Amino acid sequence: MAEPTRILDSHDEPHHNGIGQRLNWLRAAVLGANDGIVSTAGLVIGVAAATTERSVILTAGLAGLAAGAMSMAVGEYVSVSTQRDTEEALLAKERRELREEPEAELEELTQMYADKGLPADLAHEVAVQLTAHDALGAHAETELGIDPNALTSPWHAAWASLISFTVGALIPLIAIVLAGVSIRVPVTVAAVVVSLVGTGWLSARLGSAPPWPAVRRVVIGGLIAMAVTYAIGSLVGTQV
Ligand SMILES: [Zn+2]
Repeated sequence: MAEPTRILDSHDEPHHNGIGQRLNWLRAAVLGANDGIVSTAGLVIGVAAATTERSVILTAGLAGLAAGAMSMAVGEYVSVSTQRDTEEALLAKERRELREEPEAELEELTQMYADKGLPADLAHEVAVQLTAHDALGAHAETELGIDPNALTSPWHAAWASLISFTVGALIPLIAIVLAGVSIRVPVTVAAVVVSLVGTGWLSARLGSAPPWPAVRRVVIGGLIAMAVTYAIGSLVGTQV
């Protein structure tokens, strides 16, 4: 009984993909939050440089949050839908080939395992076994690098970026609305820097990269964005 279990385990490969995919999701969420923090911080600080009216700053910040979150969600939906259409077309083609010319497909699979380094007879044996177990899955994985059971959902991707952008955007928005007029801008800058240290560190860790270069880049990027919009806001606020 040990044999079947082991075969089943090796077929559970998608579990590895599952972890990889979850990491990708997490990384996308962190990047979405990052976008929300930087773009909203730039927006509210620019407006705060031009006016002290809290309601104006809040309105601009909320409008920016909504526009940014929607635009992220739509962009993500479109790009993942396109990717998914491509993957489904490839799987349909593979399915058709398996139905119409199973011999040639078995030969193709054998060749691919041989190319990966298996001796010819073993490659043939592996191809035969995997074809018997799940021909489409084997072809999809080896030939296309797709797991047919784990295609990304465009709706999931859209929701994930909408939510992560919103969470990020709320940080500078809440900071600037709650802080007193005189310390509004420095409090917001501080909140943004602290949260960017967090997102920079997390995204580097999730990608197994050293954290400090990522943190430095993202914090400097955020500071530049805020400095530029602050300058624009001051200029427009006093000139117009
Ligand atoms: Zn094939």
